[in-house]
Amino acid sequence: MEKPELLIPAGNLEKLRTALLYGADAVYVGIAGLSLRSPSAEMSLADLAIGVSEAHARKVKVYAAINTFARNADLKQARLLIPALADAGVDALIVSDPGMIRLIRTLTPNLPLHLSTQANTTNAEAVLFWRDHGVRRIILARELNLNEVGEIAVAVPEMELEIFVHGAMCMAYSGRCYLSAFRNRRSANEGDCSQPCRWEYLLHEATRPDDPLILQEDERYSYLLSSRDLCLIEYLPEVLASGVASLKIEGRMKSAYYVAVVTRTYRQALDALMQQKEKYKCRREWIDELTKISNRGYTTGFAFSEEKINETSSEIKYIQTHEPVGTVLQYDSVNKRILIGVRNHLTAGDEVELLFPDDTIKIDTRTLVDANGEPLKEANNDNQIYLPLEREAPIGAVLRQKVK
Ligand code: SF4
Repeated sequence: MEKPELLIPAGNLEKLRTALLYGADAVYVGIAGLSLRSPSAEMSLADLAIGVSEAHARKVKVYAAINTFARNADLKQARLLIPALADAGVDALIVSDPGMIRLIRTLTPNLPLHLSTQANTTNAEAVLFWRDHGVRRIILARELNLNEVGEIAVAVPEMELEIFVHGAMCMAYSGRCYLSAFRNRRSANEGDCSQPCRWEYLLHEATRPDDPLILQEDERYSYLLSSRDLCLIEYLPEVLASGVASLKIEGRMKSAYYVAVVTRTYRQALDALMQQKEKYKCRREWIDELTKISNRGYTTGFAFSEEKINETSSEIKYIQTHEPVGTVLQYDSVNKRILIGVRNHLTAGDEVELLFPDDTIKIDTRTLVDANGEPLKEANNDNQIYLPLEREAPIGAVLRQKVK
């Protein structure tokens, strides 16, 4: 069993650094202008160059997504952007559009190509087709089960295969859906889905428009289209046995806190699996950790022969038990304290945990001190505060608390 790559979403430079700290083997980023994600999940070329350099120093790979289905008007920018990405030192480009593939093959023929899941590759002949067009890796359609993934791995052993193991699912064939554009003028096809499939819907009788009925499936909500989130941590042996080279986590638009928890948890699980392949058992603490990041309840999705596409979630809003408090900016070894960049509201005495790459410790918050040494009763977003800590903590380590 080859050790697979753990591939983490990095929506910006901060999240990239978080992924590095907590154990990613590779990260994928969106590039301003041409990725299939909203502007909030895109990185500038300047930040990308910094991120690539820091990642490569740790032997972590960086893949840049330019997986839009380009229109004619996009091609001019693509011709400028593709060589710039090569110059920034990315390890591969993630693409969907055959036109973009042709352009990349012409402009930067040596840059490896990964075919995005948006291209919906579902069979071995399609994989051979893309191999013949110079694609190095296929991110298979989420809709395949692990048996089908295994058949493709056997049929085309020279192709690197990547699948999603964690994150939000789509009710449509990945992103090929107009609900969001229709309801909110935000196009899923341009990576800006507002997820209206998870909203609460009302039923109006024509003569009483102000007296709506809720479409109920149970006593709580209607949730006809809201999928649970994918989670395969319990089934990593089956995932690896299918022959995939890369395990991908969804969520370039999610927070650095999400990146920290999901990276650390899958890192620990994968390392445990590689050490004792026969005895792998998903630990309760890993599942507990994954329930501390926002989720809609978990499902195995399409991974097994029984497709769980009808596993909708009653959580119209994400379940969120914990929230980020801030990140470590500096460790003051003289006074044994950490400087925190606060990201939320924190009151003196709140129960806070600090996430180290391999363990979690409680932090004493009874005494909050600002950067000038003044005591505080509470701190808010963008404040910098000191908290006591005996052991050194890495810059970028994330603090969390229970949602109040
Ligand atoms: S609205 Fe829902 S089904 Fe449609 S693209 Fe967005 S997440 Fe997918």
